Amino acid sequence: MGEIPDSHPRKPSLLARARLTEAAAEGLLAESAMIAHGRGEAFDYLLGEMTSDSALAAIHESAARLLAAERPVISLNGNTTVLAGKDAIRAAAILGCPVEVNIYYRTSERMSKLISTLTEMRDEVSSEPAPDAWTGSQWPDAVMAVEILGADADGRIAGLEGPRSQCSSRGIEAADAVLVPLEDGDRCEALIALGKQVLVVDLNPLSRTARMANVTIVDEVSRAMKKLCKALLDNPSPTQWDNDATLRDALDIMAEASNRI
Ligand code: ATP
Ligand code: MG
Repeated sequence: MGEIPDSHPRKPSLLARARLTEAAAEGLLAESAMIAHGRGEAFDYLLGEMTSDSALAAIHESAARLLAAERPVISLNGNTTVLAGKDAIRAAAILGCPVEVNIYYRTSERMSKLISTLTEMRDEVSSEPAPDAWTGSQWPDAVMAVEILGADADGRIAGLEGPRSQCSSRGIEAADAVLVPLEDGDRCEALIALGKQVLVVDLNPLSRTARMANVTIVDEVSRAMKKLCKALLDNPSPTQWDNDATLRDALDIMAEASNRI
């Protein structure tokens, strides 16, 4: 897709499609991945394809809760790995926490492909410039220390049935705070019922996931994860958080989209 000029107003969206198409051909994604992405795109169009102030506040709140957690973990599905895997690794390196591949339709082939994709991404991130406040030599060590969990599904999410209940005992099962971009409603509900802090990224402010999470970042996952890395470096503290207000704000922005005509 090198032929899309920089001036194209919807270049990031087209590049995301190209990346997902390629990843699907490589067998990294479930068949429904494109449908989920298309649903997200529609909401993003209504949001003007940018991070709103309320989404940015939710990003800061999520950063604060991850920093305050004793055992945070970042859960990654196929779409998130493809669209924002490198920033997820960066965030995990800043937090000193693992990432865990956890997919809705679990097959050992897709699990191992996603884990090797993330392993390559981790190598790349380790040789890229350190974020502000990190010395050049600390950074590659912190990045390479990020564990990529998921291959060993030796844990369970209580309250779920079958393969969807599988997780890593040292990752999601043990975690007190889970960042789960693009999570399914059922699993979000189960994690909340276990008393974990559940921080989600979901462009649909009306999805069950969005309404159930402790903090919902209504933003596109690659934009959100990039900003999350920045927010983590600001060392924010958790606040009283009105999640319904952030969902209403996203819906207000979408409702006002008609003013753009
Ligand atoms: P729920 O089960 O929570 O009611 P759902 O069934 O509508 O949600 P899923 O198919 O489980 O949703 O997951 C896809 C969700 O991810 C959708 O809500 C969609 O808006 C969102 N989504 C898709 N792509 C992106 C993206 N790139 N960034 C952020 N959110 C996205
Ligand atoms: Mg669902």
